[in-house]
Amino acid sequence: MLNIVIFGAPGSGKGTQSENIVKKYGINHISTGDVLRAEIKNGTALGKTAKGYIDQGQLIPDELMIDILASVFDSFKESKGVIFDGFPRTIAQAEALKNMLTERGQGVSVMLDLEVPEDELMTRLIKRGKDSGRADDNETTIKKRLAVYHSQTSPLIDWYKKEGQYHRINGFGELDRIFADICTAIASVKK
Ligand code: AMP
Repeated sequence: MLNIVIFGAPGSGKGTQSENIVKKYGINHISTGDVLRAEIKNGTALGKTAKGYIDQGQLIPDELMIDILASVFDSFKESKGVIFDGFPRTIAQAEALKNMLTERGQGVSVMLDLEVPEDELMTRLIKRGKDSGRADDNETTIKKRLAVYHSQTSPLIDWYKKEGQYHRINGFGELDRIFADICTAIASVKK
């Protein structure tokens, strides 16, 4: 199976490139942000809990996210692989993902880090907030999310380097060039 972690700061293009990857490789997609937004829309208890954190630009507690991830993962039948988009965001989540996959006789094939300059992230997210109306894409919350990324999520870069799964992708520029670089990285690990 082809299990991909797509990684990067908010606004780095994880969702956009995940769609391209899903189309080309026919794997399943888990976006934890999308899962949480669907729960909020449906007014579930989980959605109510998640909303408080999302509106503050904070992360949902690890135990909750790890349970959600495992249940979505196990809902896929005869899957060719999964792209994990927006998960893991902490070291605890990365360890939990590794354990979950190991228990199922699998592992992460590659981690793709979409690197984008900070001022470009800000521009993209403000534009997305205007276009899509996503509540957490406002300047105050974006700044908090970027700070959370730097303090809690970016340590995963070294973690995945140690696992030997890290691939840096220049996420700034033409979408087609970025996707071509992603395909080259996937080809280098695909059996
Ligand atoms: P995203 O759509 O990936 O940018 O996620 C939007 C928000 O959902 C984040 O700012 C967090 O509040 C929450 N979230 C999404 N994925 C996770 C995760 N893996 N761990 C904790 N919180 C998450």
